[in-house]
Amino acid sequence: MLLESWVAGRWRTPEDEGLPLRDATTGEEVARLSTTPVPAAEALAFARDTGGPALRALDFPQRAAILKALGLHLMERKEQLYEISFATGATRRDSAIDIDGGAGTVLSYASRGRRELPAGNVVVDGALERLGKGASFVGRHVLTPMRGAVLQVNAFNFPVWGMLEKLAPAFLAGVPSVVKPAPQTAYVTERCVRLIAESGLLPEGSLQLLLGDVDGLLDGLTGQDLLSFTGSAGTAARLRAHPAVVASSVRFTAEADSLNACVLGPDARPGTPEFELFVREVAREMTAKAGQKCTAIRRAFVPRGLADDVEESLREQLAKVVVGDPRDEATRMGALVSLEQRDAVRSAVGRLVEDGRLAVGDPDAGLPGLERGAFLPPLLIRVDDARARAPHAVEAFGPVATLLPYDGVAQLPDLLALGAGSLVASVVSADLDVVRDLVLGAAAHHGRILVLDSTSAKESTGHGSPLPVLVHGGPGRAGGGEELGGMRAVFHHMQRTAVQGSPDVLQAVTGVYTRGARREETEQHPFRLSMSELRIGDTVVTASRTVTREDVDHFAEFTGDTFYAHTDEAAAAENPLFGGIVAHGYLILSLAAGLFVDPAPGPVLANTGLDRLRFTKPVKPGDTIRAVLTCAAKTPRTPQQGEVRWDVQVLDREDAVVATYELLTMVSAQPRG
Ligand code: NAP
Repeated sequence: MLLESWVAGRWRTPEDEGLPLRDATTGEEVARLSTTPVPAAEALAFARDTGGPALRALDFPQRAAILKALGLHLMERKEQLYEISFATGATRRDSAIDIDGGAGTVLSYASRGRRELPAGNVVVDGALERLGKGASFVGRHVLTPMRGAVLQVNAFNFPVWGMLEKLAPAFLAGVPSVVKPAPQTAYVTERCVRLIAESGLLPEGSLQLLLGDVDGLLDGLTGQDLLSFTGSAGTAARLRAHPAVVASSVRFTAEADSLNACVLGPDARPGTPEFELFVREVAREMTAKAGQKCTAIRRAFVPRGLADDVEESLREQLAKVVVGDPRDEATRMGALVSLEQRDAVRSAVGRLVEDGRLAVGDPDAGLPGLERGAFLPPLLIRVDDARARAPHAVEAFGPVATLLPYDGVAQLPDLLALGAGSLVASVVSADLDVVRDLVLGAAAHHGRILVLDSTSAKESTGHGSPLPVLVHGGPGRAGGGEELGGMRAVFHHMQRTAVQGSPDVLQAVTGVYTRGARREETEQHPFRLSMSELRIGDTVVTASRTVTREDVDHFAEFTGDTFYAHTDEAAAAENPLFGGIVAHGYLILSLAAGLFVDPAPGPVLANTGLDRLRFTKPVKPGDTIRAVLTCAAKTPRTPQQGEVRWDVQVLDREDAVVATYELLTMVSAQPRG
């Protein structure tokens, strides 16, 4: 019953008896949580000394593969988490958001990491900058993993997803995690960490768990550590100002609470699909996880003339919501996490009602037979003065939303901005002009905006779902963050450094071909080399070929591309760029391929595309061309094969570049046999 911390590879049993954590429905004790301060210094030291080096000994593809195995491992064992998650008051559907959502986020990072990150441990960021008049001094940005740990301080409402959405990008970046979950639901996080530890998949020290009192938790943070907070705006403000965070410029992110809005467009009158979508979306957001979602809709803006219709429709919709024991399959909405949380919500509702009236629900209604549970019905508040203060300032973190009538779409950006920065807003409208003005007018105050209409409704993931590939976070009150979601979350755990030097230096540091660096013409054609044999900089310089007028005529006739610049002498002579017949750009590409291709079967399996193609100088009949093909980057895709990116330059007789591009090929990982 007494929850244990997982520190330095050992489960630690606290010496005190701990305080009880209670089932949200029955009030029975489900676990005990220590009141002794957590061993933060030891965990951070182990993360830095053991976890970090172990992670950095792997490269991006290896870490992505481990994440994939971890996501599958958790998916296979999710029933164990579902079982204890009921005690938090969550229904099975609520738990899916947390548990499947968490494991799914790990799998999403695994797949993005495998597809988008290079081999090795260095990410090259942006283009090469020429810093001198010649080409001998250049600069480029690189990202490398921070050498500390990320300390997660998490909120109670997502005990699994909250940890995994941060663990996955940190792990991929090569940075160990130390997790401090919120007390109320810490037993679910502990079970999840046990599943992870039992898997043996993660290198030692890459994940640790701290359960107990937070006294001194942040004291040992250094400038190489990160602090990643999720919780209320008030706690975020306190942690941001912690002396250790301030003194060492600790990289700090906060995903805090916010008063998210949903807007009904003026076109969405009763009877339209959008009206229905709005009512369903607001009701769903109020009741999923009993409204304990940072992204839940708190402010529902509707045209004043439709406010009564919306109120009535929401009343009908919310009346269908069966509140009760989350273990009962008929239940649509379970309990709040604790009686204390219910008290906090009732008090917030009291402040909201001062500005208006309670339109739906009774905060004091009990649930017969479940008197010890933290139940509340859905509560809709109506505030007719859309500029009243409380709806834009008070977060009731439960099944609560406020209906606010507006008097014209021009008001809306200002009304939305009264929330002082939100994670998400949604607009339900089929009027593209309204949508465009509102999205652009409100974007600066929001991390994410969902537009919902009958076209996208079927596939829409909904207002309240942060997605692993999109920004999660928002300005101002929402925490000022945008670091979670997508590759930016991985890069957030890495330091961006500008490296200056010669092209040879940049190539050696980045492992990426750098124009101007020494190239090596290989004895064998590089198309005869497998991924394991090829080196960055391996080059072939082809023989030359003269482009004839017959070539151009033949290509025009053969392909049907008879554009006048290739076929009509008089018209081509008038062309200000060409002043005469020129070869097709695609002919140059084709001839270049004919020059550099090595035809016999070998490690090169396929040509998969071209990037950054530019035709830089016209080629006229009689001109001579040759190609220089250099291995620029190698990215493993599967154990059997990978992508090779070739830098290609097509030159004329004077060595002027006539075409430049990057050629992509799939190549076998190992030599044949
Ligand atoms: P909270 O009271 O702010 O607590 C969040 C975390 O901070 C807990 O783990 C808490 O642990 C810890 N904490 C508090 N004071 C601390 C201190 N001085 N030093 C170190 N740690 C400290 O929030 P909550 O009640 O758990 O969660 C609900 C809130 O989180 C809501 O406002 C919701 O909107 C927000 N939220 C935001 C997001 C998002 O992604 N933006 C997601 C989920 C929830 P102790 O209690 O042990 O101190």
